[in-house]
Amino acid sequence: MLVTIDGPAGSGKSSVARAVAERLGFINLNTGAAYRAVAYLALREGVEVDDGPALGDLAGRVGLTAEGAEIDGAPVPDEALRTPEVSAAASSVSSHPEVRRVLLSVQRAAAARASEDRGAVVEGRDIGTVVLPEAELKIFLSAAPEERARRRAAQSGREKELERIRAAMSLRDRQDSERETAPLKAAPDAVIVDTTDLSLDEVVSRVVELAQSLGRGA
Ligand code: C5P
Repeated sequence: MLVTIDGPAGSGKSSVARAVAERLGFINLNTGAAYRAVAYLALREGVEVDDGPALGDLAGRVGLTAEGAEIDGAPVPDEALRTPEVSAAASSVSSHPEVRRVLLSVQRAAAARASEDRGAVVEGRDIGTVVLPEAELKIFLSAAPEERARRRAAQSGREKELERIRAAMSLRDRQDSERETAPLKAAPDAVIVDTTDLSLDEVVSRVVELAQSLGRGA
């Protein structure tokens, strides 16, 4: 079974996806890590974030497993991919069709391996719409912008930088939603869950119940 979880930064995607995968005994794939790895490589190797063809070549060196992103076959520590510089660059890098085309097959191959094995919860921005439109269960998480910024600040221990985080996040949301290739949006058959006033446990239980009801119906 394939479960997709899409939504903007701070909507709770990563925490929800991780917990749902654990409850269902599925593999969790965080596709944002692959885009971040391309951005990390671009910054490291001095490739401009508007050079689509060169970024597409860099994407060819990126892999994705349940443990996270790989570069040239070696795992990249998550901390290296979570800096504000890499976050901002990832959003620019991901607007290029050359990058998306390469990572599309990387993501599909990873999901196919995972679902053959057990089942997969795949998290990102365009998983239900573009990467795995055939998935049995598609979830789109949303939350009020202030709440998303607050969560991101708390998660990274940067509560004092709330306003800066909110501004960076809203820029990233706008870029992600307005880009021409695979913009952030809910699939027509996605279940939309507004997490603003829900606890992590409540969201996780809701998604697990939906997955189990599908499993029983099959
Ligand atoms: O999910 P995360 O915040 O780690 O993603 C980093 C960036 O990668 C996002 O801002 C977005 O631009 C891009 N991304 C994407 N498509 C995905 C996952 C992430 O464009 N499926």
